[in-house]
Amino acid sequence: MSLSAGSIPTHSTHHSRHNFFEADSRQLGADVVALIDQDRKREMQSLNMIASASYAPLGLRQIEGTHLVNRAPMGLPGRRSVANSEELDAIENLAIDRAKAIFGAEYVNVQALSSTIANVAVLRAILPPDGARLLTFDELAGGHVSHGAMRHITGANREVVSFGVTSTGAVDLDQARDLARKMRPHVLLAGPSSYPREIDFAGLKNIADEVGALLFTDIAHVAGLIAAGLHANPVPFSDVSTTSTQKTLCGPRNGAFVFAKERFGAAIDAAVYPGLQGPAASNMIAARAVQMEMITRPAFAQLMRDVVANAKAFGAGLEEGGIELYTGGTDSHMIMAYTGESWTQPELVAGLGGYGVIGNAMRAPGQAGEPRTAFRFGSVALTIRGFDIAEARTLGREVAEILRAGPSASVDRARLRRLKDLADAHPIPSFVD
Ligand SMILES: *Cc1c(COP(=O)(O)O)cnc(C)c1O
Repeated sequence: MSLSAGSIPTHSTHHSRHNFFEADSRQLGADVVALIDQDRKREMQSLNMIASASYAPLGLRQIEGTHLVNRAPMGLPGRRSVANSEELDAIENLAIDRAKAIFGAEYVNVQALSSTIANVAVLRAILPPDGARLLTFDELAGGHVSHGAMRHITGANREVVSFGVTSTGAVDLDQARDLARKMRPHVLLAGPSSYPREIDFAGLKNIADEVGALLFTDIAHVAGLIAAGLHANPVPFSDVSTTSTQKTLCGPRNGAFVFAKERFGAAIDAAVYPGLQGPAASNMIAARAVQMEMITRPAFAQLMRDVVANAKAFGAGLEEGGIELYTGGTDSHMIMAYTGESWTQPELVAGLGGYGVIGNAMRAPGQAGEPRTAFRFGSVALTIRGFDIAEARTLGREVAEILRAGPSASVDRARLRRLKDLADAHPIPSFVD
C-alpha cells in the first residue's frame, strides 16, 4: 500500500491527539476547578484578617498566567545564557529600575522565588561560610523564622543571638547594643512578621555601625506602607533589604525583591542563581514590573492610609471589648491581640474560624517576656473590600466578645449572621478567574 495522504497526521488528528493543550481549566480539570470555586466562595463569605493576606489585582494575576509561565531565561538581563530573551530582559530591567527608584536602592535582584528564599540567599552571600555570627530580632517578639531560627536553614551552623522588646513592647535597642558589643555580629537582621509597631531601623543602623556589622532589614510586611510614605524607609541606609511581594504590597504571592548596596550585588545574584534556584520566572517578574508602577499611584497610597486607619479602628474595637493588645496598639496593618490563656492555638483558629474570622494563632511576649497566647490580625484584605473605620471598629468589638466568651461557648447565631452580612456587603474586587 502506498503512502496515502490519510496516513500523514493532519492538523485535526494532531489536534485531537493533544487536545489537552487547548482545553480550558474546566474542561481539563473539572474536579479541581470545583474545589477552587468552593474555596473562592468560602473566601467571599468570610472575613480574611490574615496579616500577610491581600487580594492581588486582576491585571497582575493575568500577567502571571501569560505564556511567560513557559519561559526560563538563565542568568541576568543582558547576560543570559539562552537566546531570544530580549523582551524578558526589558521586562526584568523595568522591574529592577522601578524598584530602585521607589525604594532608593543601588542594586536590586527580582529573581528570588519567595522572600524566605531571598533571605536564605542573602545570608549565604553576606555571612562568612564558617563561624558566622548573626544578631536578630527575636521570633517571639515578632521577628521571622527565616531570621536565623534554629528550625530554619538560616540558623544552621551559625551563632544566632536575638534581642527582644521592653516591658512596654518597644524594640529593646539597649539590649540590642549590649548584645552587639558582646558578640560582634557579622550581620544585624531585623524586620517585623508579628510585630505591629514601626521598628527603629535607624537606631539599629547606629548599633550595626558601632560594632562593624552589616545591617539587613526585612520589610516584607511593611514595604507597601514604605512606598506610600507611611513608614520610614530603611533601604537607603541598609546594606541589604528584602521584601515579599504580597502583604501590604498587594501583589500575587511569591517572588521577592532584594535591595542592596552595589558592592553586594554580584554575590547576591550568584547566591540566588545558580546558588539556590534555577532560571528566572519571567511571568512573576513581569507582574512585579507592573506592580512597581502600580504602587506609585495615588490610589495605592490612599489604600495604605485606609489600611492603617482600619487597623487602628479594629484595635480600638478590641480594646473597647476588653482585649489587651501586644505593644498596646499598632502603627501598621497588623494587630496582635492577647487572647487569654483559656484558648489553645487550635481552639482559637477554630473558634474565630467558626464565625468566618480568619487570622493566625501565635504567641507574643507578655510584660516579663513570658510567651502569651495571641492572635494576629491584619487589615489589608478587608480594606481592599472597602471596609471603613466604623465597620472595622464594630468588627473589633464583635471579635472581642468571641474571645472573651472563651473556647467552650457555643456559636452565637445572631453574631454569626451579622458577620456574614458584613462579608456579603463587601464583595472582593474582580474575584473571578
Ligand atoms: C512573610 C515574611 C517573609 C516570607 O515571605 P514569603 O515570600 O512568603 O516567603 C519573610 N520575612 C518576613 C519578615 C515576613 O513577614
